[in-house]
Amino acid sequence: MSLELDPLLLEILACPRCHSNLSVDYEAAELVCNSLSCGLAYPIRNNIPIMLIDEARDSRVIPTDA
Ligand SMILES: [Zn+2]
Repeated sequence: MSLELDPLLLEILACPRCHSNLSVDYEAAELVCNSLSCGLAYPIRNNIPIMLIDEARDSRVIPTDA
């Protein structure tokens, strides 16, 4: 499944927790907060970023359930 996000959307979006810019992780299908002190990663489902803190994970933590 390919991920296609509107570049304009990326410019508009900001992390809801810290309001930093976001970068796209295409392999993980996530939007990752650029703030090192925040680092939340928001899932992208059907090309729609889920900008909810409740849905985000901490990208600084390596998942252990792999
Ligand atoms: Zn953030």
